[in-house]
Amino acid sequence: MGRSLTLYPGSPGRYQVLLDLARALAATPAPAELYRIVHAHVARTLPARAFAVYSMDAAGAFRVELHVGPGPADLLLDAADVDLLRAGDFVIRALPDGQVELLAPLLADDALLGCLVARNRAAQPFDASDANFLLAVANLAAVALQNARLFGEARRRQDEAELLERAARDLGDSLDVPEVAARAAAWAQRLSGAPAVVWLADGRRIRAAATAGDAGIHPGAERPIPPEMAPPGPVLHQEAAGGEPALPELVVPLDAAGERIGLLAVGVPGGPPVGPAARSLVERLGTHAAAALENARLHSEVRRLSLTDPLTGLPNRRHLDLILEMEFAAAQRGRPLCFVLFDLDAFKGYNDTFGHQAGDAALVRFSAILHDETRAMNLVARYGGEEFAAVLSETSRAGALGYAERVRRRLENDLDGALTVSVGVAVYTDGMATAADLVSAADAALYRAKRAGRNQVIVANG
Ligand code: GH3
Ligand code: MG
Ligand code: MG
Repeated sequence: MGRSLTLYPGSPGRYQVLLDLARALAATPAPAELYRIVHAHVARTLPARAFAVYSMDAAGAFRVELHVGPGPADLLLDAADVDLLRAGDFVIRALPDGQVELLAPLLADDALLGCLVARNRAAQPFDASDANFLLAVANLAAVALQNARLFGEARRRQDEAELLERAARDLGDSLDVPEVAARAAAWAQRLSGAPAVVWLADGRRIRAAATAGDAGIHPGAERPIPPEMAPPGPVLHQEAAGGEPALPELVVPLDAAGERIGLLAVGVPGGPPVGPAARSLVERLGTHAAAALENARLHSEVRRLSLTDPLTGLPNRRHLDLILEMEFAAAQRGRPLCFVLFDLDAFKGYNDTFGHQAGDAALVRFSAILHDETRAMNLVARYGGEEFAAVLSETSRAGALGYAERVRRRLENDLDGALTVSVGVAVYTDGMATAADLVSAADAALYRAKRAGRNQVIVANG
């Protein structure tokens, strides 16, 4: 900028207007309000038939932002005029329609943001004092405009950061892969305004784990692995290829732990392109989505591999099966083995009467009894639902029966008969080929206990 302001003698009114303007612009008004303020101040002391504010875009085109008074709002400048404005000079020129025009550049950091324009009839031309005044106004306006833009940009970034933070929290809030995928698709749609699909790698294909909006793709749809799945790579775009419908416009890779676990696709082929602002948001969302999806996947993997039942803290069915296999092999080599199945009586009714939470509490209570009554060298597990099982090694038929009876009686006493348990006991015998034979023997005994009226122990064989 750097053009010094020369105030002509006899213009104290204009000096006051500039002070007032500086004060009004100090509040960082938004651009539209800013243009209005500029016009109001200029009108106080610069007689003009028409006044206009133009902004200039990156391509050098002028766009009218404010136009007051008669005449066309278009602004056509030749290159020489634009050069003058860029250099910080005003321009005074005659228009074909007989008017005269005074232009002052809006310059910030040596960039031409636009210009202020005043127009008059030729009979009322502008003088140097007018030109210097409008230059001074333009200098103040340009600084304020630059501030407004920076301020708006800062606020937009802050809003974006907050929105992304909410998205990240929302995604991290679930440990269920389909749920996280659904949330990621919904956020992608919200941030981009376009339909979104979360594709997850599934063996030799990718599968649409979730969709949001009318993406033209059904959840669960499968595709051969597209080239975008080959890491590493930046953001990818795919043209419509023959045969299968193309993936949408913007495809953001979902990378976690050095692996490409899927793709976040936004937009529809042939639809409006995803703008750069939305694009950057979706790319950042992709980072959060990938992390949340990986986290959920690991969680379910851990749960699958876990050997403990989360409600009761007892070993789970998986754990029991592992131990039973080992003990069955030992039994085949001559070590005594019994298998005991417990099934709570009329537990459905217990839930119905006392509520599911009370049902859970009863399961925990019964687990504590089992834990208490079972020797450390044996294993008792939650077999599933309201069924429990014990693997008793080095235990005779009489020992197993005594153990089962103790457990049954304790539950009956502890809960005053509000909840009872039926028990099937099976003893390993030489005829059994696999652990499943032992389990089904116990199951048959349990069935008989139920049939015989529940709250009792039946031994399968022997
Ligand atoms: P039966 O005496 O023939 O065994 O009758 P039942 O009602 O116990 O048997 P059924 O198999 O019909 O019902 C089992 C019930 O156990 C139904 C199910 O809701 C309940 N249940 C299974 N797992 C849980 C659990 O984790 N918590 C609670 N509260 N209830 C459970
Ligand atoms: Mg049952
Ligand atoms: Mg039951």
